[in-house]
Amino acid sequence: MTKHAPISTESHTIKITAKGVARLRAGHVWVYRSDVTATDAIPPGTLVSVADARGKVLGSALYSSASQIALRMVSPKPLPPAELPLLLRDRLRTALEYRKQVVHDSDACRLVFSEADGLPGLIVDRCNDIVSFQALTQAMDQRKEELMAQLADELQPAAIVERVEPRIRELEQLPAAETRILRGDRSRTVVTMNGVRFHFDALAGQKTGSFLDQRENYAAAARYAHGEALDVFCYQGGFALHLASRCDSVTGVDSSRPALEQAEQNAALNGREIEWMEANAFDLLRDYSDAGTQYDTIVLDPPAFAKSKRALDTALRGYKELNLRAFKMLRPGGTLVTCSCSYHVSEADFLAMLTEAALDARRTVRILEKRGQAQDHPVVLGIPETSYLKCVILSAQ
Ligand code: SAH
Repeated sequence: MTKHAPISTESHTIKITAKGVARLRAGHVWVYRSDVTATDAIPPGTLVSVADARGKVLGSALYSSASQIALRMVSPKPLPPAELPLLLRDRLRTALEYRKQVVHDSDACRLVFSEADGLPGLIVDRCNDIVSFQALTQAMDQRKEELMAQLADELQPAAIVERVEPRIRELEQLPAAETRILRGDRSRTVVTMNGVRFHFDALAGQKTGSFLDQRENYAAAARYAHGEALDVFCYQGGFALHLASRCDSVTGVDSSRPALEQAEQNAALNGREIEWMEANAFDLLRDYSDAGTQYDTIVLDPPAFAKSKRALDTALRGYKELNLRAFKMLRPGGTLVTCSCSYHVSEADFLAMLTEAALDARRTVRILEKRGQAQDHPVVLGIPETSYLKCVILSAQ
């Protein structure tokens, strides 16, 4: 296990620009490095006081010596460093309590969603008896032993796995590490959401190994699904398996063979027959729509096309191409479940794109539901980055 320098308990104050102050006053919790005016040599991950140019203290934040986001606020009051462990404990306990209120019909959920739970830089997921966590910042990486001990204590999981995204650790200048089991001795389990079962391996897969943010959308999609269904960008079959109980036939499409192999095992686990196809979604939809192939239900859940603001136009063209093809392929009364997990594509952008696609396809399209991420991924007013997932359910006449 990596040894860290002892966490500093000295008090440090960082002054920020008027622009930085305005951002905090608007409810955000980030201060960019470009808005930091003066720092003495502050150790990575330290709890610091944040002050305006005249020295008026605006609260306390966790400092990163590497990230473009230099400060992440944890309190609007000056917090003595000795009180930070207690604050983190309380926040973690509150996060766990909140999930008890909002998570239903599932033994898998996100327990901690970083800034949205007042624990910036920490992601914790629970998949049945396995807890996985990711420390995205210096501050959280330094405190992960205590946080993990608390998780072990409160949840008594069979295992705790640390998930690592090497690129993030590099940007944050954290020592290289690998995704690994930290407590317990297994990483595999089966999760059940909305009555549908999925194999889960905390050491494999994309993101944290499972698309928990779509959990409520799976159930919503199933309510409108009918007839012949096509789940495009199906990954391990999240939507496809939920549609299977409502539809006559379901086909899942993805370009990743390992994802489809896992999807097939998930289908077997649920006793469902689903056709899995390895294909590039753009090629497949073009060929199918040109050939006049039709479906009653189509799901589009592509990866984030816009990773930055600059990529927005290209991303919207990509989304439009997919949605246009899907509208062309829907039978009258057909359902389209269409998603975007790009933060940079706003709901307004997404709806404008859908309007254009519907017009080009000459379809009259009604909105059945506008949805977002599941409630265990809370959205905080003033922190727009906490809201990223759009899921719109449409009916095409
Ligand atoms: N709907 C899934 C999550 C989709 S994630 C769920 O609910 O679990 C996006 C998926 O798109 C990934 O599985 C990735 O392999 C796949 N993908 C990315 N680019 C693709 C392409 N051009 N064609 C087909 N699949 C693609």
